[in-house]
Parts: sequence; C-alpha cells; structure tokens
Amino acid sequence: MKRTGALIDEIVFPNNKSKAFTLSYDDGIVHDRRLVEIMNRWGIRGTFNLNSGFFGLVDNNGPFDFSRINEDEVKELYKGHEIAGHGLNHASPTLVGNSAFMYETIEDKANLERIAGKLVRGYAYPFGHYDASTKEILRNAGYHFARTVEVTHAFALPTDFLEWNATCHHNDARLMELAEDFCKSDLRNMNKQLFYVWGHSYEFEGENNWEVIENLCQYMHDHGEDVWFATNIEIYDYVTAYRNLEYSAEGNMIYNPGGIEVNIKRGGKIYKLSPLTTVTID
Ligand SMILES: [Zn+2]
Repeated sequence: MKRTGALIDEIVFPNNKSKAFTLSYDDGIVHDRRLVEIMNRWGIRGTFNLNSGFFGLVDNNGPFDFSRINEDEVKELYKGHEIAGHGLNHASPTLVGNSAFMYETIEDKANLERIAGKLVRGYAYPFGHYDASTKEILRNAGYHFARTVEVTHAFALPTDFLEWNATCHHNDARLMELAEDFCKSDLRNMNKQLFYVWGHSYEFEGENNWEVIENLCQYMHDHGEDVWFATNIEIYDYVTAYRNLEYSAEGNMIYNPGGIEVNIKRGGKIYKLSPLTTVTID
C-alpha cells in the first residue's frame, strides 16, 4: 500500500509501558543500604555509581557516617540494580589528565566487573566534569552512557547517552510536582518518556529527610501503572535498539537488527519487532 501520511512511531517500553522511571545514586556510601531497602520495598530500580578504590573506607568523624560500603557486600546489596563506574578514586575527569583518567576508568571497570561478576557499561561523571576527550576515553573503555549533574526538568530521552542529564535531583523543590506530571496520563504523552532522578544516599542522612525518597518511591509505585521501572543500562539498551531499527523507504517495513525485542506504536496500535526479523505494517 502506498504511504499517504507522515509516519509517527512512538517507543513502547517492555510490558507495553509507555514511560520509564530510573534512579541514579553516587559514591557507594553506607547509606545506600537504607536506600536500596526503600527502593526494593516499592519495586523501584536504579543505578549505583561506585568508586572501587574506596570500598571499606571508614569515615565517621563528620556530622554523619561517610564510610563506604564493603567490597564483599556489593554483589548482594545491589542485586536487581545496576552497578556503574564513578572512577577508581573519584578524580575529576577533566582535571586529572588524560592518562590518569584512563587509569581511573579502566582500573575501576576491571575491579567492579570482577566484584559484580558482570559487565559494567555505565558511568557517572565525578563532580559532573566532562569534555569531548573524556567522552572519547569512556567510549573506548566500553562505557555506553555517562550521567552528568545537569538537570532538565523534562522527560525526554537523551540524544547523547554520554551526556545523560537527569530530570532533577531529589532535593529539587519540584520533585513531587514532576512525579505527578509524569505519571498523569494524557493523549499527547510523547514527550513524557523518562523520569530520571539522581542524588547521593548520604544526603538523606545528612539532611534527615529520608521521607523524600520514601514518598517518591511510594508515589511512583502507586501511580506508575504505565511506567517501566528500570536501571539506566536497561533503558540505554532498549532505546538504542529502538533507534537502530531500520525502515524501508516507504516506512511500511521495519527491520530489527538488534538482539532484543522492541515494541513500537503506530496509529494507536502496538507492533512487536523481534530480533533479526522484518515486520510489515499495512
Ligand atoms: Zn561522586
């Protein structure tokens, strides 16, 4: 059939969810234990960005415990979540020099992969510092995404995963307003694809406001019937597979060259695109 109108395809996440929600927490401080317990209780998932050079470091001389989690608890504690790199010693990617940054990155990746028993493919920039050359080093090291500390107050998917900006930090005054706006369904939700919140678990301890994350996780659990709760790398893999779909010139045939099933919505109908197969849409 000859195509007559413009094609508008929408990404549909696994289990036919139209939106995705993820958390990203840095530094692997002992308060991750309480954060993970809260997330698990509400079925919320996320990514923990760790410094393997600091595991087991004790630092409880300040106003609250700033000690790091132990290496031997990493695998069990973060089960069901993603472990990502945050540099061996939390050195600034742009200030430490390229060769030192390469060492910080690769050594950390090797440590985390050995400890976690799986590939580590995600990263968060220490201090939020990055430039073109740090991105290139990360890409060469096998990192596919890197989170910045910039926030968008929006729900779009990132165009460049090595500059992945969050929707907001958990301390944002608009946090719950954004959560409500995100969960509210409307017919034109194409710009509501991803709600991404970042922070550090020690902030809840230091500011004595654990209810912030408790309320957010509960809210998302209670109102997220159309939301996929995913880790950062799961979102990266799915969105990348979606973006790699190959269309025929008229757009009626779609080939999925990747290894995972991708779902799209066109004209209100959902199409399942299995790996290495072509689907024809009439
Ligand atoms: Zn950090």
